[in-house]
Parts: sequence; structure tokens; C-alpha cells
Amino acid sequence: MPSAIIIGSGIAGIATALHLRAAGVEVDVFESNDYPGGKLHAFEINGFRFDAGPSLFTMPQLITELFELFGEQPSDFFQYHRMKSVCNYFWEDGIHFTVDADREVFAKEAAAKFGIDAATILSYLKNGQKKYELTASLFIEKSLHKMGTYLSVDTLKALAHLSEMNLGTSLDALNEAAIGEPHLVQLFNRYATYNGSSPYLTPGIMSMIPHLELYLGAYYPNGGMHSITTSLYQLALRQGIRFHFNQKIEQILVERNKAVGVKTASSQHFADSIVSNMDVFSTYKKLLPSQPHPERTLRQERSSSAVIFYWGIRGTFDQLDLHNIFFSSDYPQEFAHLFEHQTLFNDPTVYINISSKETSGDAPSGCENWFVMINAPGDYGQNWEALVAQARENIISKLNRLLGTDIAALIMAEDVLTPPLIERRTSSYRGALYGAASNSKLAAFLRHPNFSNKIKQLYFCGGSVHPGGGIPLCMHSAKITSKLIISAL
Ligand code: FAD
Repeated sequence: MPSAIIIGSGIAGIATALHLRAAGVEVDVFESNDYPGGKLHAFEINGFRFDAGPSLFTMPQLITELFELFGEQPSDFFQYHRMKSVCNYFWEDGIHFTVDADREVFAKEAAAKFGIDAATILSYLKNGQKKYELTASLFIEKSLHKMGTYLSVDTLKALAHLSEMNLGTSLDALNEAAIGEPHLVQLFNRYATYNGSSPYLTPGIMSMIPHLELYLGAYYPNGGMHSITTSLYQLALRQGIRFHFNQKIEQILVERNKAVGVKTASSQHFADSIVSNMDVFSTYKKLLPSQPHPERTLRQERSSSAVIFYWGIRGTFDQLDLHNIFFSSDYPQEFAHLFEHQTLFNDPTVYINISSKETSGDAPSGCENWFVMINAPGDYGQNWEALVAQARENIISKLNRLLGTDIAALIMAEDVLTPPLIERRTSSYRGALYGAASNSKLAAFLRHPNFSNKIKQLYFCGGSVHPGGGIPLCMHSAKITSKLIISAL
């Protein structure tokens, strides 16, 4: 039976293991933590349950299809539902707007609230849909590093519409021109953060991202985001995939330009294919120190990171829902601080996710579990203790202002996650949430391929390689990587 070793049990590592197993491959997963899931993890403090990382769930079919690979009924093991409203937005000028999940309703309500034509908003969203539909099969679903990808009808179709992809303009410039109204421009600019980029740098093609939420839908997995990890991990166990926790891989063994195995502190393991789900930068620097490195690819700018406060809050807030955003009043300055000055801005955009709105057991009665996140630069050795203390003050005074309450007095439980901690727990270089940033029009082509050009039988999956970060793209990377391996068997 062909065999594979996967380094890391992040969501792409587990999904790759499942695709390979379905094709009859014997799979061993080595994980340095004592739990599966990497960034998609959860924890509890004093009766408050928190999803540690991702909170927004789109494209659930990429999860459910993994159960179908083995003839299982997904709903027996993993349930989810579509959200009726996507996000609550708050601005410092007192405006509050809830985005409805139905794009026609959203356009009508936004038009009434912000005084612009509903048709203008709808046409913007349909344009994003067109970009998505023309490019997904090229940029997302296939390897960009195999000749066959460029010889397909889909590719020719996408190339014929290249001039409509707004590659030469920034997302912000596109939104200013197409929408113009400042609140809505900021709302649509925020989608750049879905891949850890700046709206002032990332190209206009990213206007396809709202299509995911406002047409394909925003979902909530029953029991919280961590149920994605637990249900897929259990599926993997049922299929005989072997997990080895607390097993940090220290080296990938290479013989005559071929990856043949891995080495931990105390043992060696061999397989026909080696897949790294570890960040590609750390894979080369730590596990392949004496092999040639693709330096240009590894030098690519990293996506933003985050500072997250996990707060157990005494009290409930009717004006809040699952996803809530409190916008900075100077968005350009916020991104200049993140990407140019590599520091935090004193008026940050604050995202609050409250899963107890959907799963009441996530917080004690009369309380809420607040996941409070601000965008942060990567870790370049800044004084995080001082930055976090200052950010906590800034966030609390912003929330006090906009919610008319004293938040600090309501915090009953607390933990914090910083860029260095993200790197320590998952090996993501500089604590990036989404691998490389998409702050240039060539970013998609500069990501590392799902295989090594130099070392045979070495493959890569996960948020730091093609097609990029975020759960849906990680699921696609697992599909692309496993297909490459299976076709080479
Ligand atoms: P990772 O989760 O990065 O896991 C890699 C695994 O490899 C880890 O378990 C690590 O321990 C293991 N590993 C590393 N080195 C070794 C070694 N030497 N030996 C053995 N094991 C090793 N995405 C969304 O879709 N929606 C969101 O709302 C969202 N929000 C986010 C918020 C935060 C705070 C964070 C951190 C991320 C967020 N993301 C979101 C991004 C998403 O979490 C990631 O893109 C995705 O989970 C990455 O999965 P991965 O498979 O690349 O692996």
C-alpha cells in the first residue's frame, strides 16, 4: 500500500490525510501540539468556551464532501446552519447597520441607510460574482504551477476577461469609484482583511470576496468552529489515519533529491510521500536547512496577524450578534500602521465574535463569550507587552463610547493571543494568519506551489502555500496536493 507522512494536523493537514486515505494511501500525521487543528482550536476558561482562531465559516460543502468520500452521511457527524444576517457594523458617527445575508435585501437596506442607489450596490456585487466565477477554477481549484492548468477552456475564458479583473487598481480605488459612499466603501474595503491584506494595496479583483458571504452564504457550525476540527479528526480516526501528538518533526530526510521520511528528536519514520502542513517558510528554514531554498518565494510579505482578547463578559448585549465590527475612524492610517510602520493604530477596527449568541452553552447564564480581535502587524520583535496593554485600553474606551457602558467592569475571565504566540503554537512565520499577503497583483503567482520543484515526493498544503489562507482555500490546497500525490502513485 502506498504511504504518506503529513507534518502538522492543521485543517489542511487533516483534509489532505482524508483525501489520500480515500485513495487507499496509508497515512501517518505527526503533530507537535497535543491536540489536532492548529489554528482551528478551542479552549475554556471559567465556564466560557472560546474558538481560538477562525470565526467566519463559508463554503461548508468543502467540509461535508470529506464525509462523502467515505460514503458517510455528513449530517450524522457535522451540522451547520446559514446565518440570516452577516455582520453588525458600528461607526464612530453613531451609525449602526446590519448586513442581511440576502444580497437583494442588503442592497435595498444599504441604499436606504446610506442614500445611494440599490442598483449600484447590486451591480458591484454581481461584478464580484463574475470575477469569482471566471477565476475560481484557475486561481483556487488547480495548481498554478502545472502546465495543464493553462491549457484549459476555463483559463482561456478567464484570460479573455483579464481587463475586467481590476488587477491594476487597488480595492479601495475600485470601491471609491464604484460605490463612493464612505461607510460602504469602508465596509467593502474590510474584505481585504479576509486574506490579511490592505485594501489600499490589494488589487480590485478582491471585490470577489463579498460574493462568498453575500451570495454563497455565511454559516455557523453547530457547536462552534471547533466542531469542524473535531468532526474531521474523528472521521480520520474512523478511517484508520494514525495521529502522533507531541511529535515535533525536526528534519525532513532527503536522499538523492527525494524526500524519504521525517525525523523527530527520538525516531525516524519513512513513507512514499512527505507532505508539510507546517508553514512553508518554517519548513524550509527548520526542516530542510541544508537544501536549496526558494528565497524569492520565502521573502514574500506576510499577511497581517492579530491581537485577540478572549473575554468572559458578565451581561448580555441585545445590539450585538455573532459577528460585530466597530470601525476605525481613520482606515487608511490603520493599514499604514499595520503594513508600513509595523505597529498597532490607536483607533483600531475592533471585531467581536460572540458564539454564545448561537450556542448558549458557550457562556454561563446571563453572560457572553467575547472574542475581541484587532488586526496586527507580524512579529518583528516589537514590544508586545506594551502594545497589548495599550491596545486593551484603546479597545475598551472605543467599546465604552459606542456601546455606552463600562466594559472593563464586566470582564470576568480573560486570555490573550499575540503574533508571537500564534507563531509559537502553529509555526506560522511572524504569526501571519493567512501565509503571504495579497498586497500585489502577482501575489497569487508568487505563493509556493503545492509541491517542491527540487525535491521529489515532497508536497505542501495549508494556508502558507497555493491557493492561500482561510479555511476554504486550505481545503482547496488539500484537494490539489492530494491529487498531485495520487496522480504520481
Ligand atoms: P495551521 O492551523 O497553521 O496548523 C499547522 C499545524 O502544523 C499546527 O497544528 C502545528 O502545531 C503543526 N506543526 C508545525 N510545525 C510542526 C512540526 N515541526 N512538527 C509537527 N507539527 C508541526 N480563516 C477563516 O476561514 N475564517 C476566519 O474567520 C479566520 N479567522 C482567523 C483568526 C485567527 C486568529 C487566526 C489565527 C486564523 C484565522 N483564519 C481564518 C485562518 C485559518 O485559521 C487558517 O488559514 C487555517 O486554519 C490554517 O490551517 P493550516 O492547515 O494551514 O494549518
